[in-house]
Amino acid sequence: MIQVVWFKRDLRTQDHRPLFEAAATGPVLPLYVVEPEYWRLPDTSARQWVAVRSALVELSTRLSQLGAPLIVRTGTVTEVLAKIHAAVGIARVLAHEETGNLWTFERDIAVRAFCRRQGVPFVEFSQTGVIRGTGARDRWATHFARFVQRASIPEPGRLERVRAAKIAVIPTASELGLRDESCVHPQSGTRESALDLLDSFLGGRGANYRRGMSSPLSAERCCSRLSVSLATGAVSVGEVLRRVYGAQEHLASLAPPHRPVPVTALVSLIARLHWRGHFMQKLESEPEIERRSFHPVHEQSRAAMRHDESVLAAWATGHTGIPFVDACMRSLLATGWLNFRMRAMVQSFASHHLALDWRASGEKLARLFTDYEPGIHWPQVQMQSGQTGINTPRIYNPIKQGLDHDPDGVFTRRWVPELADVPLAVLQTPWLAGRGEVHGYPAPIVDHAAAARAAKLRLSALRQTAGYRDAARDVYRKHGSRKRRFEDEGSLTPRSTQQLSLFSLDSQ
Ligand SMILES: Cc1cc2nc3c(=O)[nH]c(=O)nc-3n(C[C@H](O)[C@H](O)[C@H](O)COP(=O)(O)OP(=O)(O)OC[C@H]3O[C@@H](n4cnc5c(N)ncnc54)[C@H](O)[C@@H]3O)c2cc1C
Repeated sequence: MIQVVWFKRDLRTQDHRPLFEAAATGPVLPLYVVEPEYWRLPDTSARQWVAVRSALVELSTRLSQLGAPLIVRTGTVTEVLAKIHAAVGIARVLAHEETGNLWTFERDIAVRAFCRRQGVPFVEFSQTGVIRGTGARDRWATHFARFVQRASIPEPGRLERVRAAKIAVIPTASELGLRDESCVHPQSGTRESALDLLDSFLGGRGANYRRGMSSPLSAERCCSRLSVSLATGAVSVGEVLRRVYGAQEHLASLAPPHRPVPVTALVSLIARLHWRGHFMQKLESEPEIERRSFHPVHEQSRAAMRHDESVLAAWATGHTGIPFVDACMRSLLATGWLNFRMRAMVQSFASHHLALDWRASGEKLARLFTDYEPGIHWPQVQMQSGQTGINTPRIYNPIKQGLDHDPDGVFTRRWVPELADVPLAVLQTPWLAGRGEVHGYPAPIVDHAAAARAAKLRLSALRQTAGYRDAARDVYRKHGSRKRRFEDEGSLTPRSTQQLSLFSLDSQ
């Protein structure tokens, strides 16, 4: 009888409780199942698989060194487990809990049911600090802080191998039949790259984190860039946070001129890693929010929306005629990454200015993000689309964002080369340039100022609906941060719902 350690979004051997517990008991079969059905979903993509595959290759090497190579199978998890059980008998299956999309949520239910039917214990452990089920929001922050402060779980010294298990190769994206959507500079999802990124961030790269994170030009270098390896699980959020806490203590012992990064940079990074848990808890507590608006009034309005495929396609490919939005989308298409503020802006633009259903635009973004993490993604998509009822809706002015965050036009010209000859003074508003200066760039798909006003009116009207505040209170009870102010680049979670009438509209 063997123990199966089922790897999912936790592709590491360090701080891996299922592996550690199994190794202490007997022979271990480390299993990864490539699920073609999952990789055909509209929110998954080849670029995500490339990142996962890089982490799998690294994990496979490490597991072989420890004595039990990774066994990779392709198919559905229940079928793979059934075959293994029939061949060698499974004593128990150990895995981490996963806060994935609705598909993985339902797959996990099927795996649990399979194990129950077969009389095989299925043991799951938390890895992200979220609380399974409702999430007990009142005590959540304390729970999360305790979870991430516990000691790291050591890598097992040696693994006892199951000899009968045949090793298989890890398929490439094309072998899996995935549509080629590769990036120019794909970010790897490995542990090695995560540790390098963390070292360079703490060693000086993070010095301008707070100032540099908002502009897409500086953010690429100033941000931690840990999201891809956190999404593959090559490093755990607990490991990262503990390293940062250690660095924070060390910094405090140095005189300010000798600190490679200011303490405030680490405070900001720690806050963001806590938000990670905070947002993931929302999807864990209510997996349906991948498809349904948090607030019932917004859901009714969403369901009644007209869906315009050509507008969606123009936005998704960077052809709206609004230069800064297009530059951000084209940069994302090419690199697989975008900084937080620009993710917020493009999502807000799709939902507010273009009046697109957040589900459709959210799916497009998910596919483009190499670091797609459903638990962060869907709550953020909804928040930036004004669907929660408990956050201040933020309607960005894309022209002002371009002027503020790309004052010299470097980013805009890099990604929208059609605007190469347009003078800087009208780069963000090329429709004001003389004819002949804009070659092959579309006219704006929307009058951005009028569209922003219309979106504000739409949201205001929804907020006047009978019962709106009561329903918002329910959303807040279930999902709201209990902190006084949830500092999230313009998104304020009110302590009570008294602030519901607030709007944030960039000055036009
Ligand atoms: C519409 C939208 C969709 C998003 N989808 C994703 C997604 O699929 N995957 C993803 O990892 N992040 C997502 N984010 C959050 C954020 O933009 C990215 O985590 C960040 O840009 C990744 O770069 P980084 O690792 O350098 O982040 P850093 O700024 O260095 O932050 C460090 C880590 O903190 C976490 N984090 C940072 N910002 C947030 C935030 N606002 N909310 C929750 N956690 C945060 C991430 O794990 C990140 O890796 C989304 C944001 C928006 C507005």
